[in-house]
Amino acid sequence: MAQVRALVLERQHELALRDIELPLEVGPGMVKIAIHTVGVCGSDVHYYTHGRIGPFVVEAPMVLGHEAAGTVIELGEGVSHLKVGDRVCMEPGIPDPNSRASRLGLYNVDPAVSFWATPPVHGVLTPEVVHPANYTFKLPDHVSFAEGAMVEPFAVGMQAASKARIAPGDIAVVLGAGPIGTMVALAALAGGCARVIIADLAQPKLDIAARYQGVVPVNISEKNLAEEVARLTEGWGADLVFECSGSPRAWETIMQLPRPGGAIVIVGLPVEPVKVDIAAASIKEVRIENVFRYAHQYDRAIALIASGKVDLKPLISQTFAFDDAIAAFDRAVEARPSDVKLQIRIGAPA
Ligand code: ZN
Repeated sequence: MAQVRALVLERQHELALRDIELPLEVGPGMVKIAIHTVGVCGSDVHYYTHGRIGPFVVEAPMVLGHEAAGTVIELGEGVSHLKVGDRVCMEPGIPDPNSRASRLGLYNVDPAVSFWATPPVHGVLTPEVVHPANYTFKLPDHVSFAEGAMVEPFAVGMQAASKARIAPGDIAVVLGAGPIGTMVALAALAGGCARVIIADLAQPKLDIAARYQGVVPVNISEKNLAEEVARLTEGWGADLVFECSGSPRAWETIMQLPRPGGAIVIVGLPVEPVKVDIAAASIKEVRIENVFRYAHQYDRAIALIASGKVDLKPLISQTFAFDDAIAAFDRAVEARPSDVKLQIRIGAPA
């Protein structure tokens, strides 16, 4: 164990930038990483404001942060695909490699997964972390640490696009233009969608998403979404609908959106159970898919970013110094509609 500085959630509503004891021994198959940039995620903020997410309750001080990029500074025994000095980003979930889910390739739904900043597992808002090399991915030279720290939320979009089984030229609807909705829209476009209609109540969020070619914004405080989708698809409906708002209200009318034989991909998690119109889904034979985090997406996400096909840089709204980490979280709590992603930089400016 080592005494290190970290952003610690002491309990609900209380953050401290203080020393804490964390394990930093580099075992076989592990690498030590000097953390450079960490994104502030909605889940981190939710633990801060609510002290829990569903069954995960903050019962002891916990280091926050799971969207991270940095530099490899030490290799454990047997690590061959990385070297000291490599710039990397990390998958925050470590499954049990021998679990039945992992052996099926579904390691994201391994019940035994340990995931950064999900109680009781510490996150990475701290200068150094030890992580399995198998879940550590090298960044190409021209991909920045800031972009590397965006791979985690983008991987959720990649998982959604994969589960959707996009066909070239599909028209998609994304409900919710928050960070994840926007990531899903970009992944859907990169995956072959011709157009993505994105719906939200907040115009500033729609304006940011609409900067991307192929994104059609619809402000649902002004327009009826089902009518807009019908108008844009000649009355047929969307091939794919991505529910990213987590709002129970979205489920009241969602079955009007997909075309017959279309799909709904559930990304947003409603806090309470919601009512679903099964009959309306059955009449259209709507295929329904679920997304929980991601599996096998990091290398593909990095490849897309490196290719220039996906540019996540415009989504980074502001970067805070590590000393200002608490201010970064208080800013995130404000939930300004013009903020997409706030990041905290622990390493020297790149
Ligand atoms: Zn996240």
